[in-house]
Amino acid sequence: MTRQKIVAGNWKMNGSLESINALVDGLLKADQSDSEVVIAPSFPYLSLVSQSTADSNIVLAAQNVSDQEKGAFTGEVSASMLKDFSVKYVLVGHSERRSLYAESDDFIASKVKVLLDAELTPMLCIGETLEQREAGQTLSVCEQQLQAVLDLVGVEAFAKIVIAYEPVWAIGTGLSASAEQAQEVHQAIRAFLAKSSETVAKKVQILYGGSVKASTSAELFAMPDVDGALVGGASLDADEFIAIVKAAG
Ligand code: PEP
Repeated sequence: MTRQKIVAGNWKMNGSLESINALVDGLLKADQSDSEVVIAPSFPYLSLVSQSTADSNIVLAAQNVSDQEKGAFTGEVSASMLKDFSVKYVLVGHSERRSLYAESDDFIASKVKVLLDAELTPMLCIGETLEQREAGQTLSVCEQQLQAVLDLVGVEAFAKIVIAYEPVWAIGTGLSASAEQAQEVHQAIRAFLAKSSETVAKKVQILYGGSVKASTSAELFAMPDVDGALVGGASLDADEFIAIVKAAG
């Protein structure tokens, strides 16, 4: 089965009106790719970026969503609000949310459900810490994080979820997993899902994230179970991000 590659840029809490306009302008100049190109600005800029990319192939993602539908939840943003701005994907389970904001597996699963109910596509991030890798727990950690979502939404829902394998030790550290290390985990994630549904396992797109750079991305994308990348730091540089998109084909 051929799975379309996705190259997604997570801008995190970076940028200003000026720098974001410049970044989008840079990306629009290279708006031709067989891969799906996704960018995730922070909430205040979604409307602006939604308008400036409207005539392009660039797809919009949000970095977070509330687990609640609506109401008295000061500071939260609902799935239906994101839909108003043509958002397609929403990051959930990013390690920064798990570690800095204590988001549990169950809480993340509930956000996945809210997104699926709203017909938005969760980009579900999973991955182990360095300590867990060194203790040989990489696969059990990933499986536990996936299991919480499986228990709540069932395996068929994974046909509408994108998984991002992001080893915590590789995020923002400059230390990328090797292409072989990424492939090993991606293959294991697919095998884990195949125990419940082979069809879904073959279909689900699994991105790698963690210090992805243009110089190493071709090797990464050549791996059979790597269906693209979730890019943090390098996505803030239009030329570097475009080079990663080109490497994806
Ligand atoms: C991320 O935050 O999802 C990420 C992969 O960051 P970086 O590319 O900077 O490691």
